[in-house]
Amino acid sequence: MNDTLYDAVIIGSGPNGLAAAVELARNQQKVLVLEASDQIGGGTRTAELTLPGFQHDYCSAVHPLGVLSPFFSSLPLEDYGLEWIYPEASVAHPVDDGPAVLFYRDLARTMDNLGSDGKAWEKLVRPFLRDPDSLLRDILGPLGLPESPLQLARFGMKAIWPAEQLARYLFREERTRGFFAGLAAHSVLPLDKVFTSAIGLVFAVSGHVVEWPVAAGGSARISRALADYLIDLGGDIRTGSWVRELEDLPEARVYLFDTDPMQLAEIAGPVLPPAYVRRLQKYNYGPGSFKLDWALDGPIPWKDKRCLEASTVHLGGTLAEIATSERDAWLGRHSEQPFVLLCQQSQIDPLRAPQGQHTGYAYCHVPFGSTVDMTEAIERQVERFAPGFRDLILDRHTINTRELASYNPNYFGGSISGGSNDITQLFTRPVARFDPYTTPNPRIFICSASTPPGGGVHGMCGYHAAQSALKRLARSST
Ligand SMILES: Cc1cc2nc3c(=O)[nH]c(=O)nc-3n(C[C@H](O)[C@H](O)[C@H](O)COP(=O)(O)OP(=O)(O)OC[C@H]3O[C@@H](n4cnc5c(N)ncnc54)[C@H](O)[C@@H]3O)c2cc1C
Repeated sequence: MNDTLYDAVIIGSGPNGLAAAVELARNQQKVLVLEASDQIGGGTRTAELTLPGFQHDYCSAVHPLGVLSPFFSSLPLEDYGLEWIYPEASVAHPVDDGPAVLFYRDLARTMDNLGSDGKAWEKLVRPFLRDPDSLLRDILGPLGLPESPLQLARFGMKAIWPAEQLARYLFREERTRGFFAGLAAHSVLPLDKVFTSAIGLVFAVSGHVVEWPVAAGGSARISRALADYLIDLGGDIRTGSWVRELEDLPEARVYLFDTDPMQLAEIAGPVLPPAYVRRLQKYNYGPGSFKLDWALDGPIPWKDKRCLEASTVHLGGTLAEIATSERDAWLGRHSEQPFVLLCQQSQIDPLRAPQGQHTGYAYCHVPFGSTVDMTEAIERQVERFAPGFRDLILDRHTINTRELASYNPNYFGGSISGGSNDITQLFTRPVARFDPYTTPNPRIFICSASTPPGGGVHGMCGYHAAQSALKRLARSST
């Protein structure tokens, strides 16, 4: 074991672990990141999962929260090779009869697309487009004094609604209701739960600020850029270092866990109060996900060809269908017609597939811990909106919830966003505390997506945890 005394050791090199490490290192702290896998990046890894020459994003694919992250924006990541590629539209939402909804950055163009619901859409999003940056900073921060309290209060009044109810109240057309349901279903919650509109609204606002981009060459470039910057700042990273107990940790003044709460309880349990450990063990992970990647012999043959303009395609058609699918996963059932989140990175990024060929990426929500193969159900959904899709499949790669968790222990039960986003955990994860990044042990912090603001590649959990750790480090050195 290396005896160097580090200021901070970070367990896990996901985007939050690396963000925490960078923030500490640029504040002159000596940091070490320990990563269980032989590759850095956690949810931001890219690999040839199918055929040679096809680069697939293992987990995260599309990054509105990454490009809008106040922390990432403050870093010179472009100098370290990160390039965002923007699609024409953020989302396409095909329907059975009629044209798909296309979600463009330009508000007027999206309103046009929404026909008679255009005005209602404008009413929903326009109040937040005057100063979206401060709104996003308030939303991506821990609970506290907001930068724009009035705007945040106005956001909260809409966000608190169950998405199903808000969509029925605001919109008349079934396709608009389905479109909003697709955005809200990123919450991985039944859409009749309070606050499911919050995530739908965040994505609705984000898509009018920026087209949802992909990282050129794959999501792994995000973590590579963070890691290379960290190394230039003097930080160290050790891969192949699975931390299973406290004895695996080198000497340091503080430890930041980019892990799920269950692992924090297992590893640091001996130095945490039993009551706190019990609360970590009660953490609700929510449903899991089943993921598919395809090597394709051409672009997806959408009935509405404009769907190729979007980085993300939401497959589920109506509000009722999407709501049923999300409720099923929550209640432990496998939906016959799952809501599918599909990404087509190679449409805008030529580095992903051999010329003329394409990658396809899709997942659906399934019950926690499910091992059911959803390939047939997902491909049926794609075929419904893109007849002839199956004929293009050269190869496929599947990941069920167990495989996801063995790829990355943070995805316990297949939970991909750091745990359930329901009202009991949305703002107070993993345990309700004034500073959720701290634990009762002043040397131990948690910085993963199981802290506010939750899942997604934005690094804000890591950034805020680093702020808490820096305060502690400053106190302990005086
Ligand atoms: C299928 C899927 C699709 C997704 N799509 C998107 C998307 O399109 N856009 C988006 O923004 N987000 C997406 N996400 C969510 C996003 O990937 C995560 O929210 C994000 O990666 C969380 O970052 P993190 O740093 O908290 O944890 P992780 O990225 O999970 O990283 C944790 C790291 O810690 C390591 N680790 C864990 N335990 C230990 C240990 N005991 N010892 C040492 N190392 C350890 C792990 O190996 C891993 O590398 C998706 C996730 C999945 C799974």
